[in-house]
Amino acid sequence: MSTFLEETRQYVLRAARSLDLSPRDERRLMTARREIRFECTLPLDNGEVATYVGFRVQHDASRGPMKGGIRYDRAVDHDEVAALASLMTWKTAVAGLPYGGAKGGIDCDPGELSRRELQRLTRIWVDNLHEVIGPSLDVPAPDMGTDAQTMAWIADQYASHHGWNPAVVTGKPVELGGSLGRDAATGRGVIHIAQSVLAAKGEQLAGQRIAIQGFGNVGSWAARLFDGKGAIVVAGSDITGAVRNPDGLDIAALELHVAETGGVSGFAGGESFPGDEVLVEPCDILVPAAIEGVLTAENAGAVQASTVIEAANGPTSRAADEILRSREITVVPDIVANCGGVTVSYFEWKQNLQHETWDRATVEERLARRMNTVFEDVAAEARHTRGDLREAAFRLAVGRVATATSLRS
Ligand code: NAD
Repeated sequence: MSTFLEETRQYVLRAARSLDLSPRDERRLMTARREIRFECTLPLDNGEVATYVGFRVQHDASRGPMKGGIRYDRAVDHDEVAALASLMTWKTAVAGLPYGGAKGGIDCDPGELSRRELQRLTRIWVDNLHEVIGPSLDVPAPDMGTDAQTMAWIADQYASHHGWNPAVVTGKPVELGGSLGRDAATGRGVIHIAQSVLAAKGEQLAGQRIAIQGFGNVGSWAARLFDGKGAIVVAGSDITGAVRNPDGLDIAALELHVAETGGVSGFAGGESFPGDEVLVEPCDILVPAAIEGVLTAENAGAVQASTVIEAANGPTSRAADEILRSREITVVPDIVANCGGVTVSYFEWKQNLQHETWDRATVEERLARRMNTVFEDVAAEARHTRGDLREAAFRLAVGRVATATSLRS
C-alpha cells in the first residue's frame, strides 16, 4: 500500500477511534464500495497504438451521489486514486455537501498527447464507466491534467449512451451548462480560508507574503486572487522550476510567460531557483498546490511560513504534519482548504438539475458563505476537542458519514 493511501487511512482511523465507532464501522469507512480498473487501448495519430490504465474508485455513497475528479498524470495508480477517492468522501462531508466520494484517472502524460488523442482517450474512459456514472450515481469533475474541455468530451460521450444530461459531470464549459466561477473556485476557496485563518489570529491578508507550489488551475488562480487582495506573492513554482521576487511577482506577467513558454521557469520578473525550494522559501503563508507528499520529514523543519494551506490533495506526509504541529505552524488540511472546487461543482450540478443559471455574484457569494461556515465548524471542533484542524476536520467528516451509514442500515 502506498504511503499516501496508508496515511489517509490512518487519519480516518484516528477519527473513528475518537468517535468510538465499532471495528465493523471502521472497516466500512475505510473500504471502497467499488474499484474499477481497465485497459485503455489508444490509437495514436501516427498510426501506432498505446495502452494506458484507467481507474475509477467509488469510495462511499452514504450521503449522496459520489463526486470526484479525474486526473491524467503518469503517476496515477490504484493507490493514488483510492486515497484521493477517500479524501473526497471526507471533503464533501466536512463541506456539508450531499455527496459521497470518488476519484478517477488515467496513467498518461497529457502533455505528450495531441488534442485528438486526449479526446479519444477520454471517450474510452467514459465507454468503460458510463453504466456506473451519472447525475445521481457518480459525478466526475476536473483534476490535475484535465480541464473544462475534458469534461465536455465526458458529457458528450455519456450522451451517446444515455442521452444529453449535463449534470453527469461538473467543471464543464459554461456554454454546455458549466457554472460561472467554477474555474476559479478552488483558488478562491483557498483565499477565503486564508482570510479566516488570519482573522482568527487578528491579522489581515493585505501585506502577507505568499509562496505557491504549482501554477496550474488551483495555483494560478490562488496567485491571481491573493495578488488582487493586496497579498505579496513572493515565490511560485511548477514542474519546470521556481521563481522568486521578494518585492512580489507580477502575476499577470507571470501568467503571460507561462502561457507562452509552458512554465514559470525563466520568468524575467524574478530570480529562478530549484522548484522544491519553494516549500522552504521565507514567507507567511505556504500554499502547496501541485501534488501529494511534498512536505516530508526532511523539509518540514525548514518551512518558514507560519501557516500552510493545503490547496493540493495530500501534500503533507504524516511525519511532516507532526513536525509542523510541534513547530506551532497552522496547517489547514486539504479537505477544508480546497473544498471550494467541489462546492462550486455542487452549485453547477444543482443549476443543471433545476435548469437554472446563476450569475457570477451569486456563485461567489454562496461560495464565500459556505467556506466561512466550513472553517468555523472545523475551528470550533478543534477548540472543543483541543486537537488541530486536521483532526477536527476528519472527526466532523467521519462522524457525518458514520451517522448517515448507520441511519441507512
Ligand atoms: P493542474 O494540472 O492544473 O496543475 C498542476 C500544477 O502542478 C502545474 O503547474 C504543474 O506544473 C505543477 N506540478 C506538477 N508536478 C509538480 C512537481 N513535482 N513540483 C512542482 N509543481 C508540480 O492541476 P490542478 O487542478 O491545479 O490541481 C493541483 C492540485 O489541487 C492537485 O493536488 C489536485 O488534486 C488539487 N485540487 C484541484 C481541484 C480543482 O478544482 N482543479 C480541486 C481540489 C483539489
